[in-house]
Amino acid sequence: MTASTRLGVGTRGLSSRALIHVSTRRKIAIDGPVASGKTSVGRGVSRRLDYRFLDTGLMYRAVAWLALERGVDPGDEESTSRLAEGASMSVSDSEDMGVIVDGVQLGAQLREAPVDRAVSLVARISRVRSALVRLQRDIAREGAIVVVGRDIGTVVLPDADVKLYLEASAEERARRRHLEVHGSEAGPGYESVLRDLERRDALDSGRVDSPLMPASNAIVLQTYGLTVDGVVDEVVRIVEAGQWA
Ligand code: C5P
Repeated sequence: MTASTRLGVGTRGLSSRALIHVSTRRKIAIDGPVASGKTSVGRGVSRRLDYRFLDTGLMYRAVAWLALERGVDPGDEESTSRLAEGASMSVSDSEDMGVIVDGVQLGAQLREAPVDRAVSLVARISRVRSALVRLQRDIAREGAIVVVGRDIGTVVLPDADVKLYLEASAEERARRRHLEVHGSEAGPGYESVLRDLERRDALDSGRVDSPLMPASNAIVLQTYGLTVDGVVDEVVRIVEAGQWA
């Protein structure tokens, strides 16, 4: 994998506040299962603190998209690894949260059903993970950042200053995802959203390499009944109180 990290400090301009944070190179790791709110919370925290933002799930999604696009079986370890190792990837921290893979700009495609189904298979492959983790660490090295994913506190940034793990029941997360996709919390399709989410949870938690779990020094936040802003408030409070990992 070759990286051109568009996610550099130039992307959002530097305020004096950001300069202070960049100089301290603070890193905030946020992990959690499917639809636990990591992306919305992570982006909200990055805005409040003027840190950069990296959603590592998009990178696994980009490899899954590439496999499907090239007709490669996402469960085929050798071919998918070669694809991931040979691709060039650049990630944006702008609002559209896009990824450019081998010159193709990807946005909404990364959230479509075929990618949803393939991504946890791709993410089980160690060589794919190594290629992406290398790129994630390179990006994080450039200065203050909030990084969200499944293995950020445990594997990608074991030295992160603050580690958080967001938790909510599968039913609560399925309700949120259903609302996002269908505009209501329940109704037709809820059961299949719940089943898909449980299937991905099982794959992510059960894999041998970098399974989903809280780091031993992570702060576990129950998000049941909280709004995104409520969780962002709590995370910012933890960061500003200096409750470092
Ligand atoms: O966060 P999101 O749901 O977009 O992630 C998609 C998939 O990518 C996850 O279900 C997981 O299989 C994989 N992933 C991972 N490690 C990360 C981020 C995502 O294995 N750090």
